[in-house]
Amino acid sequence: MLVKDLLNKEKTTFSFEFFPPRKDEDADRLLNTISNLMPLGPSYVSVTYGAGGTTRHRTHDLVVHVREQTNITVVSHLTCVGSTRSEIHDILEKYQAAGIENILALRGDPPKNQKDFIEPADGFSYATELVHYIKKHFPKMCVGVAGFPEGHPATPNRLQEIEYLKEKVDAGADYIVSQLFFENRDFYDYCERCEIAGIHVPNIAGIMPVSTKHGLIRTAELAGGARIPARLLKAVHRAENDKFVEKVGIHWATEQVRDLVHNNVRGIQFFTLNSSLATLEIFNSLGVSHSTQLR
Ligand SMILES: Cc1cc2nc3c(=O)[nH]c(=O)nc-3n(C[C@H](O)[C@H](O)[C@H](O)COP(=O)(O)OP(=O)(O)OC[C@H]3O[C@@H](n4cnc5c(N)ncnc54)[C@H](O)[C@@H]3O)c2cc1C
Repeated sequence: MLVKDLLNKEKTTFSFEFFPPRKDEDADRLLNTISNLMPLGPSYVSVTYGAGGTTRHRTHDLVVHVREQTNITVVSHLTCVGSTRSEIHDILEKYQAAGIENILALRGDPPKNQKDFIEPADGFSYATELVHYIKKHFPKMCVGVAGFPEGHPATPNRLQEIEYLKEKVDAGADYIVSQLFFENRDFYDYCERCEIAGIHVPNIAGIMPVSTKHGLIRTAELAGGARIPARLLKAVHRAENDKFVEKVGIHWATEQVRDLVHNNVRGIQFFTLNSSLATLEIFNSLGVSHSTQLR
């Protein structure tokens, strides 16, 4: 099913994001996580594309495996990094042949040793171009794009950034998934700024429960400096060890999700980090089981 149809059908979609296993040994753990989470009845699941396109084959294999084993709607992330147009075309053709009809179109980040993004030869400079390409050559595919409630670090001008986001939507993006955030008011404010700019496709909120002290710092770095509220930071510092940090993270994310649902967000994407515990706890705390949707 197309994600845009799910977004029209369900009051709030709940989706789970996984990353492809880096080593063969991790594959079993991931499949176990996925099967633990399936009874929650997610609207769809999403599979990331390794930095620099490094997991191209693993992403493809996981996407197709989940689709075949669970029959659930799967979104494959796809980045412009390190690929020519014809390579991207081949990847999309493979997905189309395997019945995968949802793509999250991204630019990707420059490799670690490189400050700025360099457009691959005969490739794409920005996600907008990728969206445009997919919609032109694979018009039946549903395309999502990324949004940044607290701004993307490479574009300090927030007005300009929303204009770039609008370009992605005008190129045909059907929905937007946000970068993780810890303060819901940042997300609500960004949704309003989207509205003012004439962006009317659904905005999905990205939620990631903190699970370790190290993870919190790394997350803030990876998410381009996501603001960590002092209340959360203090609670994490008070925690004796990572077992308690995990509890703090689950509690914080549960409150975020409760408030987002109360405010009728169109969708929530859980960045699971390939672990089921936090997502299961959040769903349990909110009284959701099996395919019951929060209403
Ligand atoms: C939900 C989500 C999922 C993600 N999944 C992955 C993943 O699976 N794999 C991965 O490698 N990365 C992933 N990322 C990270 C993402 O690739 C990086 O954050 C990347 O730096 C930005 O990607 P984008 O698609 O937003 O790029 P773009 O929309 O192309 O934007 C990139 C930068 O260029 C600016 N810009 C856009 N258009 C123009 C223009 N016309 N002129 C000048 N500047 C412009 C933007 O403001 C921004 O600063 C994800 C991010 C999110 C939020």
